[in-house]
Amino acid sequence: MASAAARVDLDGKPITGITICMIGAGGFIGSHLCEKLMSETSHKVLAVDVYNDKIKHLLEPDSLPWNGRIQFHRINIKNDSRLEGLIKMADLTINLAAICTPADYNTRPLDTIYSNFIDALPVVKYCSENNKRLIHFSTCEVYGKTIGSYLPKDSPLRQDPAYYILKEDESPCIFGSIEKQRWSYACAKQLIERLIYAEGAENGLEFTIVRPFNWIGPRMDFIPGIDGPSEGVPRVLACFSNNLLRREPLKLVDGGESQRTFIYIKDAIEAVMLMIENPARANGHIFNVGNPNNEVTVRQLAEMMTKVYSKVSGEPSIDSPTIDVSSKEFYGEGYDDSDKRIPDMTIINKQLGWNPKTSLWDLLESTLTYQHRTYAEAIKQAIAKPIAS
Ligand code: NAD
Ligand code: UDP
Repeated sequence: MASAAARVDLDGKPITGITICMIGAGGFIGSHLCEKLMSETSHKVLAVDVYNDKIKHLLEPDSLPWNGRIQFHRINIKNDSRLEGLIKMADLTINLAAICTPADYNTRPLDTIYSNFIDALPVVKYCSENNKRLIHFSTCEVYGKTIGSYLPKDSPLRQDPAYYILKEDESPCIFGSIEKQRWSYACAKQLIERLIYAEGAENGLEFTIVRPFNWIGPRMDFIPGIDGPSEGVPRVLACFSNNLLRREPLKLVDGGESQRTFIYIKDAIEAVMLMIENPARANGHIFNVGNPNNEVTVRQLAEMMTKVYSKVSGEPSIDSPTIDVSSKEFYGEGYDDSDKRIPDMTIINKQLGWNPKTSLWDLLESTLTYQHRTYAEAIKQAIAKPIAS
């Protein structure tokens, strides 16, 4: 374990231990952030979530070196009066709680809007009223579609970065029509960002907003039928992992032409740590956190994951590794897609001197090694079980 006493911030000042109220601590990002905070710092965490399966290894047994520094509170923030007390006890609140899987945006738009806007309101209000710092997790999806996507298909301007690079302080937020309910999530996230920004401007709230660009790694989402519902549709990493584990073709939605930049969760967590420990540099800012060097189409991601999985599992890939599926068939009515997401890194470089390190191949290798070790046996057993008639 690193010596907490020796740690200094970006300006060379010693870092003192704080108490963090982390809402959504039991999720994918929360679990990695809790792990980092426990193993490398002296900060305390009040971990709030409705689930704790992904942080169980940090909560017990009592003999863990960080025993007493992390406390789990099983609270649904929709309706629990204990929330304000926890925010008051903490120096900093980090809000990660959200419905954030695209399959929900068009099929459960009300839950999506409530979760990403209405349920976040009291958190912002309690932080503002009690003069507590807030780090709020938004999304790169607030940018919506690129300006370039509205240009004619053969326009040379589509190749000009000015038409697709996403900049926190310049790019517009471009969503589809209201019946494209995919955008319910992005719109709710945009409104909560605007509210937080306004609380900062009018009432002096100290805030930082994080816009994650496809963070991926171990413990992301669930494998349908193993640790999540059989009919559930997680985000692409877990969908493709599930297909690979079951030796099924990977499903490419609308040809897999959309482009994404993927970043390793451990690189992204380094950026969040810098925000936590350098408040003077992070307050009042919105930060893109992504890896502009790891851009692929979804089809290329599928091909790469197929190769990497074959390497880590030692099994050859199946004859037809991918299959095309329409978005209507896969997600239902009202789905739409972000065409391309490349983060501009100017602000995070300037304020926090942060850059991602891990290549797409390397992050897929470590993540798929984890997926294989964690799920391959369970999948074999599930497949071998006779189906009840
Ligand atoms: P996640 O679903 O794994 O984690 C969210 C956690 O919040 C879950 O454990 C869930 O139980 C909890 N939660 C939801 N509603 C709650 C409630 N009412 N009360 C208490 N707990 C509640 O998702 P994640 O990938 O860890 O994402 C965390 C945040 O980052 C979200 O706000 C998401 O919108 C944002 N984000 C993530 C990514 C990414 O690449 N992973 C991309 C864009 C945005
Ligand atoms: N996707 C796909 N097959 C799947 C799951 C997702 O082709 O099995 C596509 C999806 O349509 C989108 C991209 O992969 O273009 C990324 O989807 P994800 O759910 O990870 O979230 P997003 O980046 O859209 O927020």
